[in-house]
Amino acid sequence: MKDCNQCGKCCIKYGDGALAATQEEIDLWEIFNPEIFEYVKNGQIWFDPKSGQKLTRCPFLELEPKKTPQAPNKYTCSIYLDRPEDCRHYPSLIDEMVRDECEMIEVIDLDNPKRAQVKLDKLMAGSRPAHY
Ligand code: SF4
Ligand code: SF4
Repeated sequence: MKDCNQCGKCCIKYGDGALAATQEEIDLWEIFNPEIFEYVKNGQIWFDPKSGQKLTRCPFLELEPKKTPQAPNKYTCSIYLDRPEDCRHYPSLIDEMVRDECEMIEVIDLDNPKRAQVKLDKLMAGSRPAHY
């Protein structure tokens, strides 16, 4: 199991409407992060604040400037500390990572998915919400 290399596949895949935010998160954004709250509509994320249309891509996913033209794309989350809990949980299961082609997975993880899951849970302990 490798560290996340910021390939962005998960955010690109799930940032198009598959993500949800809790009412508590939305309430906190309304008070403390109006720049996030403006992308919420009727308790759902993410919507264009001007047109009201559902976005096909997370508006907070940013491509990092490349150090060399050959360097692979690397993405960051511009609301990392305030991102939805949904985002904090990913990746949670080996099967899901294989399906999503998550680049943390190594061949050795495929040989022993149970051991890989233990490694993943340790790696993710600091990112997942406390009650998980
Ligand atoms: S809020 Fe951040 S972590 Fe979540 S999908 Fe968007 S860019 Fe990714
Ligand atoms: S798909 Fe995996 S390696 Fe790529 S950004 Fe998401 S967690 Fe990181």
